[in-house]
Amino acid sequence: MKLVWFRQDLRLEDNPALTYVLEQERCVLVYIYDKNTHHIGEASKWWLYYSLRSLEHELNLKGHQLYLFKGDPLPILQKTIKILKINEIAWNRCYEPSVIARDTHIKSNLRNLGVRVQSFNGSLLFDPPKIKNKQDSFFKVFTPFGKHCLKTRVDSALPSIAKNKNPTVKNMSLCSLEINELGLLPKLPWGEKLRKYWTPGEESAKARLSVFIDNNLRGYKKNRDFLSLSVTSLLSPSLHFGEISPRYIWEKVSDYLLLSEGKYLDDVNCFLSELGWREFSYHILFYVKNIEKEPFRLKFRGFPWKEDLQNFEAWKKGETGIPVVDAGMRQLWETGYMHNRVRMIVASFLTKNLLISWKKGEEWFLDTLVDADLASNLLGWQWVSGVGVDAAPYFRIFNPVLQGEKFDASGDYIRRWVPELAKLDAKYIHNPWKSPQDRLLKAGIALGENYPFPIVDLKASRHNALLAYCQLKDSD
Ligand code: FAD
Repeated sequence: MKLVWFRQDLRLEDNPALTYVLEQERCVLVYIYDKNTHHIGEASKWWLYYSLRSLEHELNLKGHQLYLFKGDPLPILQKTIKILKINEIAWNRCYEPSVIARDTHIKSNLRNLGVRVQSFNGSLLFDPPKIKNKQDSFFKVFTPFGKHCLKTRVDSALPSIAKNKNPTVKNMSLCSLEINELGLLPKLPWGEKLRKYWTPGEESAKARLSVFIDNNLRGYKKNRDFLSLSVTSLLSPSLHFGEISPRYIWEKVSDYLLLSEGKYLDDVNCFLSELGWREFSYHILFYVKNIEKEPFRLKFRGFPWKEDLQNFEAWKKGETGIPVVDAGMRQLWETGYMHNRVRMIVASFLTKNLLISWKKGEEWFLDTLVDADLASNLLGWQWVSGVGVDAAPYFRIFNPVLQGEKFDASGDYIRRWVPELAKLDAKYIHNPWKSPQDRLLKAGIALGENYPFPIVDLKASRHNALLAYCQLKDSD
């Protein structure tokens, strides 16, 4: 008897561990909620709950049952092995350092019990241990990493599992939990509003990909930066939970390119290079020890970040008085998602204008994003704050007013997420403090009363950031 352990691969199609086992014989399918090994934020827990419900439903339709457990995986697996006389376990690998350590420990324990363990790469296009530069080391810059990967063949996606093939074992003594018993849904109804925006699960992920390919892939390169257009794929949470595999996406996008006879090559390449950034973030997470806790550029360990609770709270709540920052932070709180460019703007504002540590921002994102992903989030925060691999130079400080004017010229994004400013004309919507008083009055805005004055002066805080960063610039 064999066992498949689901983890960040909550799907039936292109699931190497599941396919491997089901092709051979009957098995038992297991998911273990192990909150101690890796931190899972509130928004992600909400996603996981519905994603598991969807997986269970899809498995049932194909004649399979999913067993759910909660706690330390090793004793749970040992008990299941004993009850069902399991001789082989298969799973798809995860690449977070704490999970690698846990899995290595589990592997050696199970092997000592005489159980075969097979693991597969199901979540990345390129398995990190196989990607190295000419010096047999890891890549520190994205462009050569990307070029190197493009020389490596991407494996084909596997088909979905067949109906009723080797139906899974049903055994009452396994004492499976109900999904409700995993403790994933928040006690407050906060998570419920996320349902307005998202439907977790494999089928929904595939539908999102189809909509993206049909409607938005063409023009992606030009349009993806505009804040109110919503033309990106919205696949990040599904990729994180493994509801869809990057190989499947790669194939569908490549098919589109073939069908369109290469017409939209620039758009396709731009989209695939975004997937490449995801690969790069896992490459770095895999090779750089302690990247979770420390900046890649170690000289930043002693950087004099400010412990400014008041400004940090204002940033989290979207009450900084800088419209594009507030809009992004409120979009995040309302939907569990934020546009990529706005992530860069709010991260730059926190770490450069407010001089608050990238780590604080990274932790807030991990808790509130539905796509919270250790690798991509770390890379994003370290990149913007200038402390990471291939990072933005220290003097690159996003000007939130100019960014807003460039990528949200009409102010629609601001109007949607900061309704206090909805009636202000586009000319002043990104810097209401510069607006003549009569226009503010006409728009129903009383600065300092129903919308804050900026919590920092953008010019002075930029100057202070440059001074602070400058002191470290030569000490690499
Ligand atoms: P699309 O534009 O459709 O891109 C397709 C896919 O490519 C995405 O789903 C994602 O998997 C990947 N991707 C795109 N951009 C990046 C990028 N810059 N880095 C890594 N992968 C990328 N992404 C996460 O998935 N989880 C995070 O926790 C996360 N935190 C971030 C924090 C900061 C400060 C920044 C600047 C970026 C962060 N990103 C994170 C990357 C990016 O913002 C999101 O992946 C993207 O906005 C998701 O929207 P989408 O699926 O519509 O993207």
